[in-house]
Amino acid sequence: MRILLVEDDKVLADALVRALAQAAYTVDAIDTGELADVALAQHPYDLAILDIGLPGISGLEVLRRLRARKSLVPILLLTAFDTLQDRVKGLDLGADDYLAKPFDLPELEARVRALLRRGAQATPDIEYGDLRFDTVARRLYHRDQPIDLSARELALIELMFLRVGRVVSKEHITNQLYGWGDDVAPNAVEVLVYRVRKKLESFGCEIKTIRGMGYLIERPNEPGAD
Ligand code: CA
Repeated sequence: MRILLVEDDKVLADALVRALAQAAYTVDAIDTGELADVALAQHPYDLAILDIGLPGISGLEVLRRLRARKSLVPILLLTAFDTLQDRVKGLDLGADDYLAKPFDLPELEARVRALLRRGAQATPDIEYGDLRFDTVARRLYHRDQPIDLSARELALIELMFLRVGRVVSKEHITNQLYGWGDDVAPNAVEVLVYRVRKKLESFGCEIKTIRGMGYLIERPNEPGAD
């Protein structure tokens, strides 16, 4: 899951990036409305957290332009003051949720999870054989035993589990798992897939390499699969 954070308060932005990265999200952080406008037009984000009070064009204007382009990216608005006027305007412009500063990180994280869930699917768990990915807790379980995984490994598994039966390209994985600030080695995705494949194979879940295309987890018990 890739999130765009637009916040010009550097201290707050750094804290949010840390918290979201720890929760296994990929985060791109920028600090102006102009950059937000460009980023949202160019990248398929799963969610944007948008401060209203930005230098240059405001968060509300970014939101207006986004919805004018018919983009459905979920938007969580942030503002320094909980003024009824801003809130109503934001919701009218198509924001999905609203958080007034100051807020607690767990509340922000809960709202992020709720918005991503709304976008992704109706049920919070994805099952694959005896494996279960809990999208709320962001953990993977095997017969209710949690499996020890890094944030990046969890992000890859979530991405693949949401696309079981479909080939996921290396480019898509790179886009979803690595932000602009990340120093991505050319073989980073291969190394990550190799690690996750090793961890999943003992649980009856195989990540196949489809040469020249990407990676695939077959539907379980699909006729003709192995
Ligand atoms: Ca601000």
